[in-house]
Amino acid sequence: MSADASKIDPKDFRDIDPGDRLLMGPGPSDVPARVLQAMAAPCIGHLDPYFLETMNETQQLLRHLFQTQNALTIPVSATGSAGMEACFVNLVEPGDEVVVAVNGVFGTRMGDIVNRIGGKLVKVDGEWGRAVDAEAVARTVKGCKPKVVAVVHAETSTGACTPLEDISKIAHEAGALFLVDCVTSLAGIDVPIDRMKIDAAYSGTQKCISCPPGLSPVTFSAAAVKALDQRKHPVVSWYLDFSMIRDYWGNERKYHHTAPVNMIYAIREALRIIAEEGLEARFARHWLNHRALVAGVEAMGLSMLVPEKERLPMLNAIRIPDGVNDLKVRKALLNDFAIEIGGGLGQFAGKVWRVGLMGHSCRRKNVFLFLSALEAVLKAEGLKAKPGAIDAATAVYASA
Ligand SMILES: *Cc1c(COP(=O)(O)O)cnc(C)c1O
Repeated sequence: MSADASKIDPKDFRDIDPGDRLLMGPGPSDVPARVLQAMAAPCIGHLDPYFLETMNETQQLLRHLFQTQNALTIPVSATGSAGMEACFVNLVEPGDEVVVAVNGVFGTRMGDIVNRIGGKLVKVDGEWGRAVDAEAVARTVKGCKPKVVAVVHAETSTGACTPLEDISKIAHEAGALFLVDCVTSLAGIDVPIDRMKIDAAYSGTQKCISCPPGLSPVTFSAAAVKALDQRKHPVVSWYLDFSMIRDYWGNERKYHHTAPVNMIYAIREALRIIAEEGLEARFARHWLNHRALVAGVEAMGLSMLVPEKERLPMLNAIRIPDGVNDLKVRKALLNDFAIEIGGGLGQFAGKVWRVGLMGHSCRRKNVFLFLSALEAVLKAEGLKAKPGAIDAATAVYASA
């Protein structure tokens, strides 16, 4: 290509056609054809009556998925990290104490945001690869006066699941709002917002919702909305200020920023697919395929990072056996089998593989494909994986 930016030859630019991929990493997950087709519908105005109706339907479907009656339930126009930032900027004012439980990359990111917006961060440091210890949260909360207690439900960096019930009680007994990251858990395991008394939660489209990345569903309880209404300082982010954005999603339909129209089509379709399957059936599917995957992996002689009772079904961290080259295996899976899995993050870089079973990717045929491909790749690497992975997975399906 020419070095002169004013002279380009369009013929140098190929058509976009990435070819086949099976997305079994930490997100994005495979997107159903119906969702891609919905995105290809004509782009219309963000105040067009047809689009306004589509927005209302999207909110209804989101409330169903979040299992909430919360009026303020909207998709923020950016990825999951924007939902995270939106929750904190709208609820935290300078000097407010915020307790954040940190047991992986995403809890660490929450803390970073609290610091940047002038909140007073009080961290509960937990072990990576384990659930957050509710008693440690209780001890920390007793030592301060938090406005918000925040936790990551599904730590995608490690595959650990933190139970929410006890931490919710601890937060409310301290008079704090309970904020939950459910980016990876929503649409894969039970996230009952109202029943768990969660005041603010955010998710992302590209994990178990199986929609392309680009939106972050967020829901605020009445108490969270009250905290927003009673702010003394304006929200530090103009773009993420819910006190303005709610007037676009509410009855006033006041322009704030142009909604990403075709992304809203996409999430609406993805949510419709979820409603058709049913939440209970969807959660059961995630658990079943997870159990089959783990049975296969363990039959091969490999082991899981997270203790059994603290595992997520949609994110499976497998310890890399000694002497096996992490990158070579992942490259072989991608090049020879078109399977994408994730590597480890932070202290687990080079130590674990992260295998996603999220949403549309979470299927029996993918479990078998992954187990067979991994066995073949490990063999080629000179590692003698024990046989029997397929039989072990088959036995799990047979007993279900
Ligand atoms: C993916 C993820 C995020 C960030 O979402 P992006 O869409 O990458 O911005 C936040 N929290 C958790 C738990 C995640 O898995």
